[in-house]
Amino acid sequence: MKFYNTLTNKIETFKEIKQGTIGLYTCGPTVYDYSHIGNFRSYMFEDLVKRYFIYKGYQVNHVMNITDIDDKTIKKANEMGTSLEEVTSIYIKTFMEDIETLNILKADHYPRATEHIDEMLETVDQLYEKGYAYKKDNSVYFSIEKFSDYGKLANISRDALKIGTSVDADEYDKDDVQDFVLWKGKKQGEPSWKSEKFGDGRPGWHLECSAMSSKYLGNHFDIHMGGVDNIFPHHENEIAQSQCATGEQFVNYWIHCQHLVVDNQKMSKSLGNFYILKDLLEKGYDPMEIRYLLISTHYRKLLNFTFDGLHQAGQALRRMNDFIFTLKGLKPADGKTAEISHLIEKSEAKFRENMDTDFNISGALGVFFDFIHQVNLKQKELKKQDIKNILDFMARIDTVLGVMKKEEEKMLDAEIEAKIQERQLARKEKNFQLADAIRDELKSKGIILIDTPEGTRWKYEK
Ligand SMILES: [Zn+2]
Repeated sequence: MKFYNTLTNKIETFKEIKQGTIGLYTCGPTVYDYSHIGNFRSYMFEDLVKRYFIYKGYQVNHVMNITDIDDKTIKKANEMGTSLEEVTSIYIKTFMEDIETLNILKADHYPRATEHIDEMLETVDQLYEKGYAYKKDNSVYFSIEKFSDYGKLANISRDALKIGTSVDADEYDKDDVQDFVLWKGKKQGEPSWKSEKFGDGRPGWHLECSAMSSKYLGNHFDIHMGGVDNIFPHHENEIAQSQCATGEQFVNYWIHCQHLVVDNQKMSKSLGNFYILKDLLEKGYDPMEIRYLLISTHYRKLLNFTFDGLHQAGQALRRMNDFIFTLKGLKPADGKTAEISHLIEKSEAKFRENMDTDFNISGALGVFFDFIHQVNLKQKELKKQDIKNILDFMARIDTVLGVMKKEEEKMLDAEIEAKIQERQLARKEKNFQLADAIRDELKSKGIILIDTPEGTRWKYEK
């Protein structure tokens, strides 16, 4: 299994520290607002990688932090005139709901920053005692000059380091490589925690991931993932803090997922192209369509989100689901054919080969749809055991993709579409009684119709 490691700028062969298990840390949400589809692109890719490792038989120990104290959460609480806890609890709740809706596997731990202040102060203390940190104006800073590998992850040369200056903000950019803050001295209107040695204050953002990953995964673990925007300063600072505090190598493999744009433009509220999950669900899109669209572009490519793409994702899913439905409806003779057994074996090997090559999802999906095509050509020759084997294969692949329709959703998409057509026709003929009856019939099966200017869409009721 090979993939690109940001730390070394190379495609590397994966080798775990402890055989058969993987320590995985992924940076979680800052809970000051709803997660948007750009955030979900990263979380979804992380989920795909994690599911693939599980499919390959690894035991994955996954930790995702929740940033519930930083510049943004404090600002939001002040704007809303409420407490930090009140703000963060709202967005933690919606984040967990969104994760479930999108069929993202739960992490083993979701540590919150505010519940690990002691561990963070301990890390500050280690850095201070070893001479990597210094006090200035009631705060504590990390001296980037002292760590010879500083800038390695983000490819920053030593010459670009601004020695002797420091930055207090949690976020800053690559042109501003300075000593960063570990512990921020107490300020008016901000929550603070007690520290006799460093003075009352609150942690800098970067500190939490170093302290919490060590606690739950050990000082040295296998894989750390996040979006490309986390490379600098966040992940660069995590490496500096962890390696200097513990004296050990921090992470073996760093994997970063590219950005998402909407209609080839940067997503922003002012452009009106900013979407949170709820926006898309309200438009009638199915969570699995969104999931499929977000996983189907290779993680190192920019993902261009369009509604046309979402529509195509829906069509791809329908092909999978209709295929399964059709197979289940066949009444074949007993026995099995060597040809199908061979096709499954070959397809699964190719699927793995693609995923083993830097998570080549497009190639893997291509293999999968080719498989469906091949089986469809041989539909009449299928035997009972063939069908069971095909369905088992589909289910195995779906432990990785996580997009196919579950058993309880009985109605075939094509059937629903036909009902919608029928209702359209009834409305055209002003037979509103029939149109309403069709709507009610679908509703009784948990299907909601949404009339839009572009036509009628449907979704399953939650
Ligand atoms: Zn982090």
